[in-house]
Amino acid sequence: MHELSIVAAMIELCEDNARIKNATKISEIHTKIGVLSGIDKEQFKLCFESFKEGSLCEEAKLFMQDEDLEGECECGFKGRLDGKSFFCPKCGGKELKITAGEEFYLMRLVME
Ligand SMILES: [Zn+2]
Repeated sequence: MHELSIVAAMIELCEDNARIKNATKISEIHTKIGVLSGIDKEQFKLCFESFKEGSLCEEAKLFMQDEDLEGECECGFKGRLDGKSFFCPKCGGKELKITAGEEFYLMRLVME
């Protein structure tokens, strides 16, 4: 499952960060999830709930923020896309470069 491997990698990253800062516990995890990242937020949360046991993230609260899809076109258009089509809303061109919305980001950690 896609979400499972992302959650596992995220927890590992959180623990690495905590060790660097000599923190004993992570209390908040802030993430940003691109609308096209393929991550199902419900699944993601469920995976996190079962995976966090025994890790430094055990008591952490998970925050998930959507990242909108954004793109750029050679006509000069730059901005938000509705995600239903990949045509430029300004010129109708289809050579859009996707600049946001496809990734998963770990934004911020609150540690103790
Ligand atoms: Zn265009």
